Amino acid sequence: MTAPKVPEVVLSSSSGQRKMPVIGLGTAPGSISKGTTKDAVLEAIKQGYRHFDAAAAYGVEQSVGEAISEALKLGLISSRDELFVTSKLWVTDNHPELIVPALKKSLRTLQLEYLDLILIHWPITTKPGEVKYPIEVSEIVEFDMKGVWTSLEECQKLGLTKAIGASNFSIKKLEKLLSFATIPPAVNQVEVNLGWQQQKLRAFCKEKGIIVTAFSPLRKGASKGANLVMDNDILKELADAHGKTIAQICLRWLYEQGLTFVVKSYDKERMNQNLQIFDWSLTEDDYKKISEIHQERLIKGLTKPLLDDLWDKE
Ligand code: NAP
Repeated sequence: MTAPKVPEVVLSSSSGQRKMPVIGLGTAPGSISKGTTKDAVLEAIKQGYRHFDAAAAYGVEQSVGEAISEALKLGLISSRDELFVTSKLWVTDNHPELIVPALKKSLRTLQLEYLDLILIHWPITTKPGEVKYPIEVSEIVEFDMKGVWTSLEECQKLGLTKAIGASNFSIKKLEKLLSFATIPPAVNQVEVNLGWQQQKLRAFCKEKGIIVTAFSPLRKGASKGANLVMDNDILKELADAHGKTIAQICLRWLYEQGLTFVVKSYDKERMNQNLQIFDWSLTEDDYKKISEIHQERLIKGLTKPLLDDLWDKE
């Protein structure tokens, strides 16, 4: 199959009105994917992916950087500017004075001069240094949102990143962020999938001009046991009726909602399958069936025990 032209959205508060391709390749470890990140990113570039979602905590920045260098050497892309690269600051670096050094470290590891987007991975701060996962609540210190955001604004002004954003932020936390931000967040990356549709948060972000990027769009990365979407009978029926896979129904729905999304596949065929969603559509009847799907958050937090106020009961 030929590489489709992937639609893009404009990040309104970015330097130079940077455009983000709606589909990005996820790179979080821990799922069942086989193969290396370097090979997967290189293959993805061959297939037409231009957006890559990394994070300091994933331990993949070096491999993503090596794949980009290789793609340039092979002439698969003519310039790094053709790519959209996101990384995320880990909770240990959520201290105002550590933001610029942490971003510079990510850039060195990625062998890049700038990021397209840097996100606050979680609205949580721990003591600097190493922290084990899941994080013990005793490791948590106060999250200085204003100080951290001001440092991120500095990163954008210094040209270290084209855009800055949040991840795992509730409406309440975004409201607080917007109350002092001089550069508003371009993106909030949160879990959105057919089993956790997040209507309220999406409506709020739309009103404020914040692009939502959906993570775990197939609910597969962190799920154990039965999967609320990939093993869903309603979705199986829709997939069969369209001659598509359940994964494609999931991704098409996200696209029709006006969202961007990061989906991880390190498998050549599935990577390609996930790109084939831009030339067909869901019907009104499909939407009625989709509204019947049970709703439940998959990723509930990263601490032990879970924090009561992480999602602000939203
Ligand atoms: P996901 O993308 O929903 O699922 C990934 C899993 O689905 C992989 O095991 C993959 O296996 C499989 N898969 C992919 N395409 C498929 C298809 N067409 N048919 C069947 N199986 C398919 O889950 P995720 O990795 O949790 O989320 C995606 C990305 O979001 C992450 O990699 C990360 O970049 C980001 N993320 C961010 C946060 C955050 O806190 N900001 C949290 C979670 C995730 P194969 O490789 O074998 O295809």
